Amino acid sequence: THFGFRDVPVGEKKKLVDQVFSSVAGKYDLMNDLMSFGIHRVWKRYFVGTSGVRRGDRVLDLAGGTGDIAALMHERVGSDGEVVLGDINAGMLRVGRDRLTDRGRVAGLRYVQLNAEALPFPDASFDLVTIAFGLRNVTDKQAALGEMHRVLKVGGRALVLEFSEVKSDVLRPLYDFHSFSVLPRLGKLFANDAESYQYLAESIRKHPPQDELKAMMEAAGFARCSYRNLSAGICAIHSGYRI
Ligand code: SAM
Repeated sequence: THFGFRDVPVGEKKKLVDQVFSSVAGKYDLMNDLMSFGIHRVWKRYFVGTSGVRRGDRVLDLAGGTGDIAALMHERVGSDGEVVLGDINAGMLRVGRDRLTDRGRVAGLRYVQLNAEALPFPDASFDLVTIAFGLRNVTDKQAALGEMHRVLKVGGRALVLEFSEVKSDVLRPLYDFHSFSVLPRLGKLFANDAESYQYLAESIRKHPPQDELKAMMEAAGFARCSYRNLSAGICAIHSGYRI
């Protein structure tokens, strides 16, 4: 397949993103470990560990994919909490549900096929809304941030974990080489799908950098917006509250 990612019309992006994730779903976890040398696990643990999630919370994890964040959240909310894993792609959702179910995580977990741009939940439904490595795939990011704000309870928090702008001059050339040379090759070798991994590298470059994303969160209505860089800005965690 050739997806032709460059300069695609907005309406086409959804279809392309869907093709990419349908194509990678079965290999997604293996590829994450290979491509990040396992570091994505550290970032995700840190993300959930600093999220402020508490027992009894209702958590929505958007673009939840194969369930890494949902699993970590589920450990923390306990039996009177709930975690909803939402993703637009049926293949990714299925892999996520099977994985969590196989690990004995059943009660207090729900799976909803949804588009982050238009959430099927009433206002003020959740204590915490997260999206990890997902926002860059959403066509209308501002709409998604607005929806995250809407479904949060007053006092609730939204957290975005996403690739961001590398702030280290030493790291940048290595990182560029990794994403444009190594990634597509790994994609070809292990998933026979260089294009999907080319898309992933490109989507990272197009994603708004730290301060721009923070401004988008403010525009969506969030208060006390802030961010924190991980690994010199390879990733950033953005935080905002509904007040
Ligand atoms: N959060 C998981 C993780 O960190 O491993 C999965 C991240 S994966 C790179 C991105 C996910 O975003 C895919 O599962 C994809 O189907 C989902 N996605 C893309 N566009 C979406 C949208 N508009 N609404 C909800 N999910 C979306």
